Amino acid sequence: MKKECVVCGAGFDARGFAKTCSPECSAEHRREKQRKYRQENSEKLAERGRKWRQENSEQQRKYRQENSEKIAEYTRKYRQENREKFTENRRKWRQENREKILENTRKYQQENREAILERRRKHHQENREKIAERRRKYKQKNPEKVAESGRKYYQENREKINECNRKYRQENREKEAERARKRSAKISAALRLVREIREKGLEALL
Ligand SMILES: [Zn+2]
Repeated sequence: MKKECVVCGAGFDARGFAKTCSPECSAEHRREKQRKYRQENSEKLAERGRKWRQENSEQQRKYRQENSEKIAEYTRKYRQENREKFTENRRKWRQENREKILENTRKYQQENREAILERRRKHHQENREKIAERRRKYKQKNPEKVAESGRKYYQENREKINECNRKYRQENREKEAERARKRSAKISAALRLVREIREKGLEALL
């Protein structure tokens, strides 16, 4: 019986219930059906996966532990071979789940505020020079961008910055006073020198 292949549209001599013209089209047809099934049953399948993982978590953990190198190697290789697909998929997923991601991030940050700050502080302390160097280089390459973003940041956070400065000054009042004393001592010394030069000429420098 003459039929049209449901995949490629070519006419072919069908036997029985055949819907496709060739083994290749048959495989493609099967893949399409599976894709469609997964799409239409994504929630059910996800739930089944969750349940399976829950019930087998101990076994999985053990398997992952015993095969961590093999898994890492496999993952690395798979990512390398599918880099474009991978980034594209991730980009797409991020775009489609933007709200969910933002919400999750906010929630995580809120619940882990202290830990995050602590981690950041530690990282900063341990990488102070590297970070400063990177910042310096970036500034050198993008002076206008840096100046602009600094201006913008100051404008948007004026109150916070002023408050911070005020607090810092208050806490460092002693240090600040000491600095001011030194500054004025330097100035008076210079003025004295100028006066002496005026009175005694350059001999004052000897
Ligand atoms: Zn075909």
